[in-house]
Amino acid sequence: PNYTSVSNLSNLLNVRIEKLVRDLTRLGFSDVSHNYILSREYIELILQEYNYEIDDRVSTLTWENVYAELKSAVNPKNLERRPPIVTIMGHVDHGKTTILDYLRKTAVVAQESGGITQHIGAFQIETPVSGRKITFLDTPGHSAFLKMRQRGATITDIVVLVVSAEDSLMPQTLEAIKHVRASGNELIIAITKIDKISKRERDKAIDRVNNDLLSHDISIEKVGGDVQVIPISARTGENMDLLEESIVVLSDLMDLKAENATNTVAEGFILESEVKKTVGNTATVLITKGTLQKGKVFVCGNTYCKVRSLCDEGGRAKLKALPAEPVEVLGWKELPQTGDEVIQVKSEALAKKYVAKRQALVQSEKHAGDVKKINEQRCSEA
Ligand code: GDP
Ligand code: MG
Repeated sequence: PNYTSVSNLSNLLNVRIEKLVRDLTRLGFSDVSHNYILSREYIELILQEYNYEIDDRVSTLTWENVYAELKSAVNPKNLERRPPIVTIMGHVDHGKTTILDYLRKTAVVAQESGGITQHIGAFQIETPVSGRKITFLDTPGHSAFLKMRQRGATITDIVVLVVSAEDSLMPQTLEAIKHVRASGNELIIAITKIDKISKRERDKAIDRVNNDLLSHDISIEKVGGDVQVIPISARTGENMDLLEESIVVLSDLMDLKAENATNTVAEGFILESEVKKTVGNTATVLITKGTLQKGKVFVCGNTYCKVRSLCDEGGRAKLKALPAEPVEVLGWKELPQTGDEVIQVKSEALAKKYVAKRQALVQSEKHAGDVKKINEQRCSEA
């Protein structure tokens, strides 16, 4: 940065703020307070005083780099297969919610719990045919989705694009296609509501959707491409098993893997968060690496969490969550933000240190912005 606050600098240098203020006073600064803003030339002067390499210390200390410090390298030997993470997209009323409801319902029956669905922003099913796991993201997850995409990160592996057999492609279908292309996700097409079309008319309706897809350069299997097209009914359940197995087949081709050892530094992100009256701050976390377990400590943006408990969508308590297994987590100091990265640290003390560092960074960026604004004003007045 070209500007930073005294408190931020003390954090960056790992020097007690009282000492820094004393040194600054000795260097000739007067009335130095914690939020005193230092310009770059003064920062450089001070860094020389503390024998620091200038650019290394100051310009590389963004929050992303602070996070990067915490992460561990991927160990290829520990990679294990993980379930695919799937988002359902498509035009309004083409059947997204109905598919998710169908999957949820069958998943609950399979687990024989009969428990009340809590409806967190994601859930995992086991497919009835191959018994494999699939993680589905619900619509509330979409804001996390968008926020992460701004950072160039992607949550989803596979997009299931729903297209109503009655309407074929519509404006939001085309939007979704654009999105899939931009994000590099894999695509499966589900032609929905086939139960609403008489047996005699079905082939014609399916052909129409296929042709419309082709005219938008989707290389469907029918013409030797790799995009599977599955006609389904989420109302009757027809071909839903086929859709689930198509996802499994595609995920195998994608060779989705993650480290899931307990001692791997765990990483993930926040799908959604909420303050609940009875339990306080809660967040749905999707781990992408390592495991999430009770007692582990995670930093996330301006807050951290010593995991007090975790449970699945049905509210069942869990001991640990593996990669791609969404869980609701309790134990957050402050409410974490949707889309933010979650990284495990060794101790609560360390988490506190990083949160302080982060807050100082945010503050100094804000101060720098303020100083810039004041300077610009001065310039334009002059
Ligand atoms: P969304 O806007 O994409 O979430 O669409 P919904 O899932 O809310 O579906 C819109 C309407 O279509 C609802 O009235 C559903 O009951 C109905 N619907 C969705 N899928 C099917 C299907 O496969 N068969 C039939 N008959 N109706 C469907
Ligand atoms: Mg809906």
